[in-house]
Amino acid sequence: MSAYTPMIQQYLAIKEGAQDAILFFRLGDFYEMFFDDAINASRELEITLTGREGGGDRKIPMCGVPYHSAEGYIARLIEKGFKVAICEQVEDPAAAKGVVRREIIRVVTPGTVMETKSLAEKANNFIVSVSELKGVYGVAACDLTTGELYVTSFASSAEALTDEINVYHPSEIVGDAAVLERLRAAAAGWNRPVLFTDREPMADELLRKQFGQLELSALAPARHRAVSLLTGYLDETQKRSLGHMRRISVYEPNQYMVLDPFTRRNLELTETVRDRSKKGSLLWLLDRTRTSMGARLLRRWIDKPLLSKAMIDERLEAVEKLYLSFILRDELRQELNEIYDLERLVGRVAYGSANGRDLNALKTSLQHVPALTALCAESDSATLRKLVNGVDGCADLAELIETVIVEEPPVSVREGGLIRSGYDAYLDELREASVNGKKWLAELERKEREATGIKSLKIGYNKVFGYYLEVSKANVGSLPEGRYERKQTLANAERYVTPELKAKEALILEAEEKMVDLEYAKFIELRDHLTAHLHRLQKLAEVIAELDVYQSLATVSGEQRYVKPNVTEGYDFVVAEGRHPVVETVMEGAAFIANETKLVKDGSSMLLITGPNMAGKSTYMRQVALIGIMAQIGCFVPAKQAEVPLIDRIFTRIGAADDLIGGQSTFMVEMKDIQIMTEKATARSLVIIDELGRGTSTGEGMAIAQAVIEFVHHEVGCKALVSTHFHELAHLGDTLPHLANACMAVQETGDNVTFLRKLVPGAAGSSYGIYCAQLAGLPGSIIKRAYSLLDLHTAHESAAAAAELPYVSNAHGSSDVPLAEAALSGRAETSFASQAIETSFAAAAAEAA
Ligand code: ADP
Repeated sequence: MSAYTPMIQQYLAIKEGAQDAILFFRLGDFYEMFFDDAINASRELEITLTGREGGGDRKIPMCGVPYHSAEGYIARLIEKGFKVAICEQVEDPAAAKGVVRREIIRVVTPGTVMETKSLAEKANNFIVSVSELKGVYGVAACDLTTGELYVTSFASSAEALTDEINVYHPSEIVGDAAVLERLRAAAAGWNRPVLFTDREPMADELLRKQFGQLELSALAPARHRAVSLLTGYLDETQKRSLGHMRRISVYEPNQYMVLDPFTRRNLELTETVRDRSKKGSLLWLLDRTRTSMGARLLRRWIDKPLLSKAMIDERLEAVEKLYLSFILRDELRQELNEIYDLERLVGRVAYGSANGRDLNALKTSLQHVPALTALCAESDSATLRKLVNGVDGCADLAELIETVIVEEPPVSVREGGLIRSGYDAYLDELREASVNGKKWLAELERKEREATGIKSLKIGYNKVFGYYLEVSKANVGSLPEGRYERKQTLANAERYVTPELKAKEALILEAEEKMVDLEYAKFIELRDHLTAHLHRLQKLAEVIAELDVYQSLATVSGEQRYVKPNVTEGYDFVVAEGRHPVVETVMEGAAFIANETKLVKDGSSMLLITGPNMAGKSTYMRQVALIGIMAQIGCFVPAKQAEVPLIDRIFTRIGAADDLIGGQSTFMVEMKDIQIMTEKATARSLVIIDELGRGTSTGEGMAIAQAVIEFVHHEVGCKALVSTHFHELAHLGDTLPHLANACMAVQETGDNVTFLRKLVPGAAGSSYGIYCAQLAGLPGSIIKRAYSLLDLHTAHESAAAAAELPYVSNAHGSSDVPLAEAALSGRAETSFASQAIETSFAAAAAEAA
């Protein structure tokens, strides 16, 4: 190492402390990267890789980016899952003896980006930490741009952990090594890059400094540890005080509806399955927010439907009042239009990166708060009145910014021009001096022209030479001897200074330098003052965000003709003329056909839906789940009338999007999902299974489907919608009192089949699969052959045998054994080994017996 030049030695020493990051090493106007970092970064950023002599045997690989355009390059590296350590010169190169002192001032990571370029405005960027202590998992989630920090804990279970983490869609996870190891495996199926870093908790004393003893002492051990792990990481990477992250929002997982990652995806809550875009998701439909903070809050509400009737009713009340008063809604929207992203502005103030324009944005926003709160205070909504009751509008802060900062400040805070005159007496004096100086210069120019008779003589300024008198080459001869000292020669002019000009220059420049410094100092003073009031601004931001979400939900509800659901603590789920909220809006031409839902305790709580492909089964089942979720976030629902019970958990097994996860077969994935369902579902859950039992042979598929249906019916007792293409299962309706058959109606006229999209009682006659094949344009010979084979199969099948096999209730667990044994018996061998030969259901049932 000693062979290296002192600068490279310094580089290597600093790199030592940032092994897992790409080091941006500031050299003058560039950030340079060396060695492997240079090789990686040049490849990822598509910039030229060069070499530099560094004292070693061979050239050191190097690449660089100009500091003023670094943000974009950093953003690209972060997006690709790298960390970037920013190393700056921390002393004035002119004053330095030897190599300029340099330090890492911050490590930018996917979960800690502050730069707006890399962030979606309308989504939080969460970094999550996980801890494990004595069989309990702790999870903390923070959005550094806003300072939000949430924490919870629960008995350790891998599913609960991934469910909880998925709520936050984190870009980065830190925490206890053992838990991370388990998560890494699960993350393979998440479809988005997540950066993992093992962590140790931070020192308690530092943690107390961040949050205060009071905030911390309320935390259970696993939660405390999660917060500590997270804060330690933030402290280490950000290297600055996080004044906007002082409050810890604690919650219990059972405060919210549980939705596993697949269910979130399948129901397309915040993004679509097909291209993971927001467009086409429930969030996309419901988002009519006017502010980014509102948009982010709405997303959080959708990610966490409530389980408290009182809280849901409170939200619904606000939505209802806004739904009914178009005028109030409109007025609110007008005011909200003028409000900037307070939460992130607060973040930038805390971070020390807010400039004059940010403070003015803050001011403008605050100036609209009184009108906004007055609208709510005078509304007839108890929820809105309560929301703004006693709200602190931070008018003093707006006023202060108004008195300090000029109307249109520059982007930079270090070049002056941002503090109002009249705010600081000394600053005004300096300004005066500078203005007077300029006047004096103008006077000097006039005098010199007169004295020399050179009309084109002028006074100018540049950074290198300061003030000068400029005389064109043609006129140089007319200058008197002595007083004029030549400074610079141009192609057709000469530049001079005089002793008089030199003396005044010092004064003028000093005043200007002092002025710029003082402006900066005054600006920092203001920003520091605001920092002390961040919690007030944060509280206000929360109120505004909530208001924005209410008006958003009310706006959509009004436009889409939704109704207020009657949310109950009971069991029954009854919907008249329900619609799928998204499908109905994206359908072109045809009208959406409404369908009813009736899942009740004293009657049918389970529906077995048969019907051909494309008939509308999965749309219907998703629609029921979405109506439940919408009601529980406090939104009106697409129906004519709806009685919605509190649902504690929704399980779905729909669609083919997650067919292959880590090489598992569809069938295995389905079975695992169902296993989790059997373990976790309660009577208050909603279970939705599309095409139960597909992916294995007909006989087995049907057998398993029947067994699962019976289990849900007898053991769980929850509401369930199950679709199947095994019409043979329809007989179950005869033996299971809470199971009803339904099908999607189809109209046959001659050779034509029309999907009516209407859910009707009873089982479908035939699956029309062959008809679909025909529609798809398969050759006529295949279609004909398929029809004749179908006839043959139908003749052989006899579903009656299955009906005679009564269900025996499981005294939990014990009868699992025979089932497992059955699976391992010779029958399994036949069906797996010869998948092509489909065992008929009757045969399989007979074997099982
Ligand atoms: P299945 O699950 O039975 O195969 P889908 O639910 O996927 O059928 O529905 C197929 C298509 O039919 C959907 O893409 C949608 O456009 C349309 N559709 C479904 N339900 C309705 C409805 N109630 N009204 C109008 N169109 C519908």
